[in-house]
Amino acid sequence: MHPGITRCSFCDAEMDRFFANYPNCVCRECEKRTVNSENKVPDFNTFFDSGDNPIFIDGIKCWRRYKFGGFVTMRDLHDCSTLEEFYRKAYNRNREERFNESASKAARRGPREIETGTDTEEVQSSRSVEVVQSISARR
Ligand SMILES: [Zn+2]
Repeated sequence: MHPGITRCSFCDAEMDRFFANYPNCVCRECEKRTVNSENKVPDFNTFFDSGDNPIFIDGIKCWRRYKFGGFVTMRDLHDCSTLEEFYRKAYNRNREERFNESASKAARRGPREIETGTDTEEVQSSRSVEVVQSISARR
């Protein structure tokens, strides 16, 4: 599996980066085969961001996250009984991967550039004024 590329958990099709945040996501083509527990096209309500769950693709249990009038379908690898359980297990599975990823990102980041201020120049010019003043005072 190529890192950084999100693939459909059913057909292995390459998916938009957006889906990287969703575990075991399903592409729009495979979603077309989705049925609910009554073997019908899943129903959802865009006003309440809710709908049928779990749902099934090729007889395999999946969960849908309904939001913003749409949804993301995710394949259940743990035979969970609720969407919350699915999230919890998927989260635990991804946590270590994410931790490793962020650790390697931090290592790639170089040391911060040292900021160079203009203080020195200002100090020098004010000193030269003092010198001029002291010279004129001597006269
Ligand atoms: Zn697919």
